Amino acid sequence: MAGIAPDFWGAVGNTPLIRLRRASEETGCEILGKAEFMNPGGSVKDRAALGILSEAVSHGLLTPFRPGTIVEGTAGNTGIGVALAANARGWKSVIVVPETQSREKIDFLRMIGADVRLVPPKPLSDPGHYVNTSRRIAEEMGAVWANQFDNHANAAAHEATTGPEIWEQTGGRVDAFTCACGTGGTLAGTGRALKARKPGVRIVLADPHGSGLFSWVKTGTVSAEGNSVTEGIGQGSKVPGNLTGAPIDDAIRISDPEALEQCFSLLSEEGLSVGGSAGLNVAAAIALARQMGPGHTIVTILCDSGARYQSKLFNPEFLRERGLPVPPWLA
Ligand code: PMP
Repeated sequence: MAGIAPDFWGAVGNTPLIRLRRASEETGCEILGKAEFMNPGGSVKDRAALGILSEAVSHGLLTPFRPGTIVEGTAGNTGIGVALAANARGWKSVIVVPETQSREKIDFLRMIGADVRLVPPKPLSDPGHYVNTSRRIAEEMGAVWANQFDNHANAAAHEATTGPEIWEQTGGRVDAFTCACGTGGTLAGTGRALKARKPGVRIVLADPHGSGLFSWVKTGTVSAEGNSVTEGIGQGSKVPGNLTGAPIDDAIRISDPEALEQCFSLLSEEGLSVGGSAGLNVAAAIALARQMGPGHTIVTILCDSGARYQSKLFNPEFLRERGLPVPPWLA
């Protein structure tokens, strides 16, 4: 019975790589999306959560089915992965989330039994920032702090799984990989795995407005302007530890209308329900295909599901208030 995953942990990864028809037809490239929304916790962040928790186990910080608590600060998806993986090993989780993140993710965290602490949005320099808050809570509780931004077990998980899966699934015929960065774990780890197998592969950062990572790749200086309705991606002031030293060749900046256009078209024309960061990634893959010209294979990440953003990105009122496009079937 080779097809059986022993538990939640064994069911993470090995997601399908889906050909994106419209993006491919419009560009003459093969544009492929890694369906990370099909992970058991519903996002690409299940991989980072397992990587971080596995390392904590190997360092003796956590033992399966013995009391233990993990604390993390997150836009939501890492918290969901951590909380579910913890449930499957008999641990507790404390998840610190900025109150600006979608209601769906916060409700889901509560539903799965995480101890959710909402905090107001603050700059990273403020002790009340969600990352600093999570570190303080972990210290006070004597609990494990996942620290996804600077914990290299995050990128290592993608180097060991996401990258090799893409390599196998494409039979090595991958010319470029692009995705947005929150922690940078996905881009850095996948990028390293692909470059090790094919040094000429292009690794390209996709960045929303309001993030300073685009300027960091282009000029070496982090400088942010504007804002975005996408969640879980972009960094205003600091390059996360997981991203420093990553093999990045270039960067592309994508606007919210461009990202949403992809979310809506993937849903209505291809039956793929994805969130804002996935839409942004696909828009970046299309922009990259136009730069590189026809005949190339470009892989990107479909990070999570549109169901996590029903109250925002698929809510006509939310979209109209911000002057963003409304999909015709919801108008
Ligand atoms: N998309 C979504 C929806 C996310 O929650 C995250 C992680 N915060 C990312 C993309 C970025 O992934 P990474 O942290 O690996 O850069």
